[in-house]
Amino acid sequence: MRIMLSPKDLKLRGKTVFLRVDFNVPITQEGKITDDNRIRTALPTLNYLLNKDAKVIIGSHLGRPKGKFIPELSLKFVLKRLSELTSKEITFADDVIGERVDKLKMLLKNGQALLLENLRFYPEESRNDTYFAQKLAKHVDFYVNDAFSTCHRIHASIIAITQYVKKSAGGFQLNREIKYLSKLIYSPEKPYTIILGGAKVSDKIPVIQNLLNKADNILIGGAMAYTFLAAQGFDVGRSLIEEDKEELALLLLKEAREKSVQIHFPLDHIIAAKLEPRSRSLTIEDFPIPKDFMAVDIGPKTVDKYSKIISEAKTIFWNGPLGVFEIDKFSKGTNKIARAIANSNALSIIGGGESSAAVYKAGLDKNISHISTGGGASLEFIANETLPGIEVLREK
Ligand code: ADP
Ligand code: MG
Repeated sequence: MRIMLSPKDLKLRGKTVFLRVDFNVPITQEGKITDDNRIRTALPTLNYLLNKDAKVIIGSHLGRPKGKFIPELSLKFVLKRLSELTSKEITFADDVIGERVDKLKMLLKNGQALLLENLRFYPEESRNDTYFAQKLAKHVDFYVNDAFSTCHRIHASIIAITQYVKKSAGGFQLNREIKYLSKLIYSPEKPYTIILGGAKVSDKIPVIQNLLNKADNILIGGAMAYTFLAAQGFDVGRSLIEEDKEELALLLLKEAREKSVQIHFPLDHIIAAKLEPRSRSLTIEDFPIPKDFMAVDIGPKTVDKYSKIISEAKTIFWNGPLGVFEIDKFSKGTNKIARAIANSNALSIIGGGESSAAVYKAGLDKNISHISTGGGASLEFIANETLPGIEVLREK
C-alpha cells in the first residue's frame, strides 16, 4: 500500500504549512460555542506544527453557507476559543484567498498561526476548483490534513490543494481514525457485533453490505429497523420508513442468511402517537403497530437481548441511536445500549454524530475505545475501505 506521511516526517522549521481542520462546531446565535470537541481534536497536530517552528495556516469550514458570506458562520467565533486552548495568539484573516490574505501569510513568523475565514464562503471550495486550490496553496510548502470528517468530500481544500504543495501528510487525529476504523474492516476480533440505528437505511446500506462478510451479529434498531420489518410484511403503522428501499432490504437479508450473519430485529417496541414528550406511548410486542402510532424506541426485551449479545462481543461498532433519543422519554433504549457498550471489554468504536452525542451526554465517552469524529465519513470509510481525501495524501 502506498504510504501516508505524518507531520513527523516533515522538516517543519521555517516552512509554511496549510493545516485543514474541521472546526465545524455548534455555535449559538450569540456566537457562543456549545461544544468545542472538534477544536480540541485538532490540537495535538496544531501544537506539534507550532512547536516545530512551522508557520501554520489553518483552514476550516463551518456550517453550510453554500458559497456565500454568512456573518453568523464566520470562523472568527472560533478564534477566541482556539487561542485559549493553544495559549497562543493566533491571527485571523477575514478572507480565504487574495492579496490581503497573502500579505498575512507572508507576515507569519516561525511558530505562529493564521486562521482563515470559512472556506465554504467560496462556491469554488465545494466544486474542488483547481484555480481556487492554487490560491489557497500560495506561499505554502506542505499540506497537512487533520479533518477526517471531511475526507469523503471532493472539495478544493481536501483534494485539489494537494497538487500545489511540495508534500502532503495526514494529521494525528486522521491517523488515529484510520487505525481504529481499519480494525473494523481488516482484523476484527470475534465475536464481532455491529449495532445500527438512526433514521435512514439508505445511509447505512453500503456499510451493511461490506460488513456482512465480517460481522457475526448485526443488531438493528431505530427507524431503519421498520423499513426492514415493513419489507418482510409487518404492519409498522406510521413508523418512519423508506418504501423505496424495501426491496434492497430484502436482498440484504437474503445475503446475510447465505453468509450466516445473524441480523437481529427488535422483539418489542415503544410506540407513540406523536414525536412529542407528552405524547401517549406504550410498549408492544406484536404487530400490527396501531395505525395512528409510530415506533420511537426499542423495548425492554430488546434491550436485554441486545445487551447480552454486546456483552459477549470482542469487537463492537455502533452507528445510529436506537430511538428518538432527543426526547428523554424515548431515549432509554439508546442509553442502555450505550451503557452496555461502555461496560464491555471489547474494542468499541462509535461512528455518527447523534450516537456520539448520546454517549457524551451519558458521560460514557471515557469507556469507549474510539469515538469517530466522522459521521458520514466513518460510514463511507467502512463501506469503501478508504476515502478520497485520504487517497490523495498517499505518496505517489
Ligand atoms: P448518527 O448521526 O449517529 O449516524 P443518524 O443520523 O442516522 O445517526 O440518525 C439519527 C436520528 O435518528 C436521530 O435524530 C433520531 O431521532 C432518529 N431516530 C432514531 N430512531 C427513530 C425512530 N424510531 N423514528 C424516528 N426517528 C428515529
Ligand atoms: Mg446524523
